[in-house]
Amino acid sequence: MSSTAQETLRRVFGYDAFRGAQEAVIESVIAGRDALVIMPTGGGKSLCYQIPALLRAGAGLVVSPLIALMQDQVAALHEAGVEAGFLNSSQTDEEQRDVVRQLRDGKLQLLYVAPERLANGSTRALLREVPLSVIAIDEAHCVSQWGHDFRQEYLQLGELKTLFPGVPRMALTATATRLTRNEIVERLALDDPGIFVSPFDRPNISYLVQPKTDAKRQLLKFLQGHRKEAGIVYCLSRKKTESTADWLFAQGYNALPYHAGLASHVRSEHQRRFLNEDAVIIVATIAFGMGIDKPDVRFVAHLDLPKSMESYYQETGRAGRDGEPADAWMVYGLQDVVRLRQMLDDSDANEEFKRHERQKLDALLGWCEVTGCRRRPLLEYFGDQPENDCGNCDGCLTPVRTWEGTEAAQKLLSAVYRTGQRFGAAHVIDVLAGKTTDKVRQHGHTELSVFGIGSEFDATVWRSVIRQLIVRGYLRSDAERFGALVLTEQSRGLLRGEVTVQFREDPKRPATVRTSASSGPAIAPQHAGMWDALRSCRQKLASEHDVPPYVIFHDKTL
Ligand code: ADP
Ligand code: MG
Repeated sequence: MSSTAQETLRRVFGYDAFRGAQEAVIESVIAGRDALVIMPTGGGKSLCYQIPALLRAGAGLVVSPLIALMQDQVAALHEAGVEAGFLNSSQTDEEQRDVVRQLRDGKLQLLYVAPERLANGSTRALLREVPLSVIAIDEAHCVSQWGHDFRQEYLQLGELKTLFPGVPRMALTATATRLTRNEIVERLALDDPGIFVSPFDRPNISYLVQPKTDAKRQLLKFLQGHRKEAGIVYCLSRKKTESTADWLFAQGYNALPYHAGLASHVRSEHQRRFLNEDAVIIVATIAFGMGIDKPDVRFVAHLDLPKSMESYYQETGRAGRDGEPADAWMVYGLQDVVRLRQMLDDSDANEEFKRHERQKLDALLGWCEVTGCRRRPLLEYFGDQPENDCGNCDGCLTPVRTWEGTEAAQKLLSAVYRTGQRFGAAHVIDVLAGKTTDKVRQHGHTELSVFGIGSEFDATVWRSVIRQLIVRGYLRSDAERFGALVLTEQSRGLLRGEVTVQFREDPKRPATVRTSASSGPAIAPQHAGMWDALRSCRQKLASEHDVPPYVIFHDKTL
């Protein structure tokens, strides 16, 4: 059997050998068994269903969510001499009739359809007229609400089991945590599927994540190591892709914007240049990428945070497909976190979905803040169990220093609490720094016990503290109140000293900061006396209220 598959691989596709699990998947499917195939992007999932479709009798049905992707695949198949077609909304009636005719005449070896097509009674009836060799559901993570790309139309694909009994069905995806895998098998009603999980590691990709200080300057510095190389720069908004592309162009880079709002001829022109010319940088929203297969992308840079580990892995996975060294570089900051949470809160998705999304964002944020090897937790997230640190990420190459931040955290949380949980980061930091701004004066915050207790750090450090507290759930930024900082249930334990926190040391942290837990409050000398007085007063009150020295809680629910 496998010699036929081998022969098809060589004769039709022109490749010498199967990669990874391809051969095992193909054999299993040819034998008629359902399959769940989890393989990283670029791993070669398409051949896993294309070859069985060629070797079994009947037409192979491929469910694919993206029209552009279908067209590319069908064009590539035609080039290889395979009879393939697709049915989607981009075609004229005439074109569709043509494809239907070919199918009825038994001329099609592969038929690509969009998932919503399969809800359609006439498409179902048509497909039941002809023998099917295999049913492949590509991008199968779309069936999962845990995945990053949920699509309603995928839910009905479970019905394919009863509609086409006896036809082996395959679910293929690049991103699926253990939880998602089970969900896929269940929702697609796969029948005792062979499960093929490929290792996710991309050892040639170097992961580098920095706190955002001056994103443009940071990007320029990063790009100096990538002159004359092709790469992708991801931004959150369409507008920003354009301004960033313009700016990079002015800096001497061959940069082009790409987003769904551009005219389609502009988009395809930019894509074409990226694929065919040397050293083009595409500055894009997430609209760019699915189905792009350019082997020598040397870097993927994120100027804004993606919304989950899944998105991050998929987007960075577009780098270094040729196996040569490539960089996945990202800057992220407090603003990103606030903005993404806000977008999520504002969306009209249901609460359960939002909760899942929040968890996924949190996983990514937590990952940004890891202090050791970055690859290890990344792979663990996807269910791999790497044995060693990778030695090829920022965590390994320039180990992050950490500092004992419990005291700083307590001060910060106290300041948030004392100012009424109504203000954003900037104001809270002013209060901590003892800055008498108009706003501080206007609200009488110079009178607060927390006024000036944080002058040992500059604003950058406090922002870093806030960011890390938010990431770890000790603090929340309330989107409905313009990013006002509010305490969480977890804050209490930290305020009481029941838990301690270690912070990552950001590059700019000043040397004056003490790093030991036992060294007592690191405060500016001019506040020392006041601090002592406050402290004893507070301690007395605290002992009466069952709270730590910095805060008096009126609200026991905290
Ligand atoms: P995926 O769907 O997993 O992201 P694709 O099926 O699009 O990946 O394949 C990615 C690239 O790898 C394609 O250019 C494909 O032709 C190539 N490829 C797949 N299998 C092999 C193989 N066995 N040998 C060489 N190249 C392969
Ligand atoms: Mg694919």
